[in-house]
Amino acid sequence: MNHARSHDLFARASALLPGGVNSPVRAFKSVGGEPFFAQRAEGAYLFDVDGNRYVDYVGSWGPMIAGHAHPQVLDAVAKTMRDGLSFGVPNALEVTMAEAITAIVPSCEMVRMVNSGTEATLSAIRLARGATGRNRIVKFEGCYHGHGDSFLVKAGSGALTLGLPNSPGVPGALADLTLTIPYNDFEAATQLFDEVGGEIAGLIIEPIVGNANCILPRDGYLQHLRELCTKHGALLIFDEVMTGFRVALGGAQQRYGITPDLSTFGKIIGGGMPVGAFGGRRELMSQIAPSGPIYQAGTLSGNPVAMAAGLATLELIRAPGFHDALEASTHALCDGLEAAARDAGVAFHTTRAPGMFGLYFREGPVESFADAMASDAVKFGRFFHAMLERGVYLAPSAFEAGFVSSAHGEAEIAHTINAARAAFAEVA
Ligand SMILES: *Cc1c(COP(=O)(O)O)cnc(C)c1O
Repeated sequence: MNHARSHDLFARASALLPGGVNSPVRAFKSVGGEPFFAQRAEGAYLFDVDGNRYVDYVGSWGPMIAGHAHPQVLDAVAKTMRDGLSFGVPNALEVTMAEAITAIVPSCEMVRMVNSGTEATLSAIRLARGATGRNRIVKFEGCYHGHGDSFLVKAGSGALTLGLPNSPGVPGALADLTLTIPYNDFEAATQLFDEVGGEIAGLIIEPIVGNANCILPRDGYLQHLRELCTKHGALLIFDEVMTGFRVALGGAQQRYGITPDLSTFGKIIGGGMPVGAFGGRRELMSQIAPSGPIYQAGTLSGNPVAMAAGLATLELIRAPGFHDALEASTHALCDGLEAAARDAGVAFHTTRAPGMFGLYFREGPVESFADAMASDAVKFGRFFHAMLERGVYLAPSAFEAGFVSSAHGEAEIAHTINAARAAFAEVA
């Protein structure tokens, strides 16, 4: 494959953008090599500036659940933008969006629109702190909630170890308020709440972890967290920026039958435009300004063009059977990859939820952050490049989930599995 134009652009970008990119994982650091630059995208495919075509399993990191450049989404955007790009006064599409979210996700009686997943999560913990009058936040090892200061904290050597910043620039005094425990560990959560439950404002979790590859909750785990939060008066916050509208129409909370106090959304809700949202019970959400004292604002929040893209996407995924078909495609892909790896004698395992999957260069099962980290990242890097050469674009990191869209049909999945047969043979 020729990458001359991408190479040239990356050289120019690297002189002016930190690492040549505007978001770190795009830089291919963990798989080596250089990123390709997109020219355009359509359905399941990305096309780069050198004319190469890839079956895309990143989907802009989640939003493109209905495939790239879906005509209905583009039409909605085009029609809306002709009336103006931003008004600074309320517009009807914001109301339609709030009605759609609250209808699809019953735990959200009210919502606030924002411009990214990061904004949604940092606003949600401000609300949790403001509403409970407590300061501590609990998160999980390997869960990602955007780049807000309170979230850039990794675990110490035990559930009660105080947080340490893992990014320079995060004040230790703030990081100390974030407690980190291992995902899927019932006992660690019980112990933490027994010791400091009365100080915890909220527990935030990716109900299915999609930012440490893809890890599913053990049976009863989310229910256990729900009970602990209720017992100790802490708010349960489901970060559904990735899982929302994907693993079921109503997200992971619908799939697992759990009612969180607050939920955060992003990605799909913007259909490819910069959008996030957070919502929850009326009594909590009413404490947000201007109906309450907890401040939150945004010049472009509820932007009409962004609402139009998100609403058109929601309309597509509300079609009967949409998520069942997505689940079937995800299984077909993962089953095919596992069979190809077995034939090549490569230790390999997949995890799946509808429309998202994890690839592991190790035997299963994978149920914890430690399990996920034990995947052979060097082998993944070689596999990634072997697939890219064959026109398949996987997430450029061994520790990111992959995404399947409704545009991934039998032909795309068959192409992927064929490519994988050759790629596994190369890395075996
Ligand atoms: C992507 C993501 C975020 C951050 O969203 P941005 O729009 O990148 O700020 C937060 N939480 C989860 C679970 C995510 O996957």
